[in-house]
Amino acid sequence: MINSLDFKSIKRGVKLEFVLRHYHIKLRRNGKDQYRGCCPIHRGDGQDAFHVNLARNIFHCFACGAGGTVLDFVAAMERCSLFDAALKLQAITGSSVVTTSTTNEKELVTERRRVSSPLNFKLTGIDCRHPYLAERGITEQTAREFGVGFYAGPGLMHRRLVIPIHNAEGQLLAYCGRSVDQTQPRYRVPRDFAKSEILFNMHRAGAEDDRSVVVVEGFFDSMKVHQAGIRSVVALMGSVLYEPQRHALLARFCHITLLLDGDPTGRKASLVISQRLRQDIDVRVILLPDGVQPDQLPAEDIGNILPPFANDD
Ligand SMILES: [Zn+2]
Repeated sequence: MINSLDFKSIKRGVKLEFVLRHYHIKLRRNGKDQYRGCCPIHRGDGQDAFHVNLARNIFHCFACGAGGTVLDFVAAMERCSLFDAALKLQAITGSSVVTTSTTNEKELVTERRRVSSPLNFKLTGIDCRHPYLAERGITEQTAREFGVGFYAGPGLMHRRLVIPIHNAEGQLLAYCGRSVDQTQPRYRVPRDFAKSEILFNMHRAGAEDDRSVVVVEGFFDSMKVHQAGIRSVVALMGSVLYEPQRHALLARFCHITLLLDGDPTGRKASLVISQRLRQDIDVRVILLPDGVQPDQLPAEDIGNILPPFANDD
């Protein structure tokens, strides 16, 4: 896993705000996205020495001169190399090999756990123009961007619409196969695929220069929202928010819009999930009319029900 470290995506993908909270550092607000306080690195008395800019995701101490990105911050706090800081950050955010769970408020328990490892093959000959896609309102361009299409080759995904699933670093983990006729199951994934660890489309959403994200249930919902011009969208692949998924959202974004299905399950999930997130992050819930799923909405409607957050940068 060590060779999969990507400094750039860590610097961009992990919020300094999240890391400061992890180290229990309290700062005073000093303007929009600007914070000041005692420097946690040299631990001096200066109440104004340590400056943080959350919008730019950087910090600087005017007393000891420490400064830089989230990686520099963790390296300074832990007195370790940037490389070890990157590993540490992965542990804090649960984005890769190691995940951190807050089972006890005061005690951060870090445990090593197996996550889905990258696939060592890629399906070829995927047809991005299969009529099923048009039926679901997915354009060929979107299908190509997501690598989605009909696969006629042999194996588990034979004669299914295949949807590649990546981890936050963009490594291909698995394919999900959607049946295009009445064949059951409707969705087929490899047995060892750990869905609870992954947010579908996180590698694209996380790379956007956007601090807000739309959370939907399904693959097609996320493709339709993406197609409507809202690139920062992830799918739960269900109606449950698992702990590693929650962690990944908190680590990367400041505002969350929940856009789940307009059915009893989706409504209940919206309530449960928003209550769980609300204490840590700005959450907005959009309830769709009965029987409506986001992927059935025309692009204009998606744009209309998802106005940008007023306090976005
Ligand atoms: Zn300092």
